[in-house]
Amino acid sequence: MARTTRRTILQLGIAGIPGAQLLSRAVASADELAPQTQKAESTLNKASVCFRIGEPLWANAARFTELLDLFDANRGVTDEVTLFTSETHPPLQLDEILRRADVLRDCMAAARARGYRSGVNPLATIGHHEENLPNSLAGEYMPMTDPNGNVCRGSFCPNDARLRAYIAKVYEALALSKPDYIWIDDDVRLFGHMPIGACCFCDTCVTLFSERIGTSFTRDALRDALGGGTLQDRLKLRRAFLQHNRDTISTLFKLIETTVHAIAPGLPLGFMTGDRFYEGYGFDTWAEVLAGPSRAPLLWRPGGGAYREDKLDDFPDKAHAMGRQVSVLPEYVTCIQSEVESFPYQRLKKSIHATQMEAAAYIAAGCTGAAFNVLSMYDEPLGEYAPLVAGLKDARPFLDLLVAHGGRVAPSGVHSGWNEDTYAASNPDGAWFGGPGAPGNCFEIWATGLPAAYSAAHAPVTAFAGDSVLALSDDEIRAAFAKGVYLDGPALTRLNNMGYGELTGFAVENTVTIDCIEEFIEHPLNGAFAGRRRNGRQSFYKNPAQMLRATRDGAQSISRCVDYTYAETAPCVTGVFENTLGGRVCVAGYYPWEQLQNLSKASQLKSVMRWLSKDTLPAYVASYHRVNVWARETEPGRYAIALLNAYLDPAASVEIAVRTERGSLAFYDKHCARTAVTATVNEGDYARFLLPGIGAWDVALIVV
Ligand SMILES: [Zn+2]
Repeated sequence: MARTTRRTILQLGIAGIPGAQLLSRAVASADELAPQTQKAESTLNKASVCFRIGEPLWANAARFTELLDLFDANRGVTDEVTLFTSETHPPLQLDEILRRADVLRDCMAAARARGYRSGVNPLATIGHHEENLPNSLAGEYMPMTDPNGNVCRGSFCPNDARLRAYIAKVYEALALSKPDYIWIDDDVRLFGHMPIGACCFCDTCVTLFSERIGTSFTRDALRDALGGGTLQDRLKLRRAFLQHNRDTISTLFKLIETTVHAIAPGLPLGFMTGDRFYEGYGFDTWAEVLAGPSRAPLLWRPGGGAYREDKLDDFPDKAHAMGRQVSVLPEYVTCIQSEVESFPYQRLKKSIHATQMEAAAYIAAGCTGAAFNVLSMYDEPLGEYAPLVAGLKDARPFLDLLVAHGGRVAPSGVHSGWNEDTYAASNPDGAWFGGPGAPGNCFEIWATGLPAAYSAAHAPVTAFAGDSVLALSDDEIRAAFAKGVYLDGPALTRLNNMGYGELTGFAVENTVTIDCIEEFIEHPLNGAFAGRRRNGRQSFYKNPAQMLRATRDGAQSISRCVDYTYAETAPCVTGVFENTLGGRVCVAGYYPWEQLQNLSKASQLKSVMRWLSKDTLPAYVASYHRVNVWARETEPGRYAIALLNAYLDPAASVEIAVRTERGSLAFYDKHCARTAVTATVNEGDYARFLLPGIGAWDVALIVV
C-alpha cells in the first residue's frame, strides 16, 4: 500500500487515529490457520498439551477409567496423560515407589491404548516442604540446610551420596515402568523448601564449595563472607556460589540421565523450572546434561505461582516469568509445556475463562504448549471438572494457532535487564539471601502496550533497575548502552560509580521523598502533553524521587519537578541523552516503574521507548489500553504478535503500530475467528491498524 502520511518519531504517543477499515470477518479454515511459510527456526505446527494426574486419580483403576472416558469425550483436549508418582512433596520410601511403578505401568498402557502418550512425573526427587513425614523417606539422609543451620525435613541435599543412591533406584524403577517420558519436577531447586529459604549449606555442600574455590569455609564463615568484605569481594564470591548451585543441579541431572538412558536409551526427559535466579538460571547447561551424549529429546516446563484468579495480574506476571525461562533454553528444546496449575484444585478459585487465558498467555510469552494440572487431588467423581475439560477442549485450536505462528521465535522489545548472575546483586550492601530475585521492574511498562523481550539479544531497549546493574559484565553494559537504555536513579548512580558516566549523561543531584510531582516540559517527545502532570503521591506510595543533573553536553530534561503550588523544585526528573556509542538513554528519576498508566505518561513512555529504540521496536499498542504485547519477527518483515487485554473491560478500538510496509494483517480472536485489517495510516517505519475488539482478559493473535 502507498504510504499515506509520514510523521516524525517525535510526534508519537498520541492516541486517536481515524476509524476502522475492517475488510472481512470469517472463521478461518484449517488451511488458513497454518503458517504461510515454513519458519526456519521451527517446524512446530501445533501445541503440545498434557494433563498432569494426581496419584488418587490413577491409584483407583475405576477412577482412572472414568478419567480416560472424560478425555475421550473431549477428544483433542490433550495429547498426553502424565502421572504424578505421589500426592505429597517429600520423597517416598523406595519400596512404595517400586510398588507404585507396577501400577503406573498398567495405567500408562491403558492411556496409550486410548491414543494418548503417557509418562511419569516424580513429584519428589529431592523433595519439597514438610508434609506426610511419617510416610516419607527417612533415615541417614542429609536434610536441606540453610545458612544458619536450619533444615527442611521434607527435602534432602542432592550432593549427599546416600540420597544419590536412592534417586538412582527411583529413576531406575520409573524407567523400567515403560513410560513415554519422565518429568523431573520443580522440587529440584535450592531455594524455598519450607520452612527454610536459601540452601544448601550442609557440611557436604560447604566443603564442596570450599574445594571448588580453594578457600576453606565453615558454614558461618561462608554466610558471613557472602555478605561481608568489599563490594567486589562479595560479588565475586556470590558469583562463584551461583556457579556452585548450577553445578549441584548439573551433577544431579547427570546421575538421572545416565541412570535412565542406560535402561531406556533416547527416552525423553523433562524438567520443570521456575524463575531460578538463586540457582544461577543454568538452564542451557542443565538441558545439555539431561539430553545426554545421545542427544535424547528434551522437554521443558516453565512454571511459577498463579493458582487462583483473585489477583489477575498474577497471570501476566507468570507469563513474563515463563518468558525469561524460555529465553535461556537452547533452540533444540521445542516441547515447552507451560505449567497451568490450580492447586489445590477447588474449581471456584479459578474460572474456565482464566484457565483458557492462562494457557494462551503463556504460549504468547514463549511456551509451545501447556501442562494442565487442574483436576481433582481426590479419588472422587470427576463431574465437577467436566465443564473445565470441555472448556479447555474449546480453547485448544487457539493454542495450536499461537504455536503454529510464533513457534520458538524469541519476542523482541523492552528487556528488564536481568542476566544469569542477577541474584549476586541482590542486597549488595549487606547480608545476602533475599527473596527469589525476579525483576518486576517492567511489569507496568509491558502492561501499557510496550512489547516484552526476555533476552538482551532481542532487546532494542533495556530497562535497568537499581542494583541489578552490578551483576552485568562490561560487555553487557556497553552493548545495552550502544542501543537504548531506560534506567532509574539508583541504577544511574551505580553505573556512574562503576565508571560509565560517559554513557549515562546524567547524575543524581539529590533525592526527595515528599511532595514531588512530575511535570512534562515543552519537548518534542512530550508533544501535545507538555504541561501535563503526574503525581505518584509519595505520602501514600513511598518512592524516593531522584532529581537529575546533566553531566554531558546534549543531555536534556523532558520532565521537571514541581510542588503542590506547581512551582519548580528541580529542572529535571526525567532526561534523555545520546551517548558516544550512538546509543540513547532515558533516566527516569520519578516513579520509573509504577504509576505509569494515565494517558499522558503512557503516551510519553511510548514516545520515549520508540525514540530509544531508533524506531526498531517491532510493534506497540499506540492507543490507550492495558494490553500486553509479545511481538515476534518470524521472517524479515513478517510478524506474529500476541496481545493480552489485561483489563475487565473489553478493549475496543485498539490501535497497534507495527514496523512494516505491509498494508494489511490478519487478526484472530480466541475462537480463531479471522478478521482482515488494513492499515489506517503510516508514519515513519510503522503502519497503524485499528483492531477488532478484544474481550476482557482475552488473548488475540495478529499475523502480518
Ligand atoms: Zn547440602
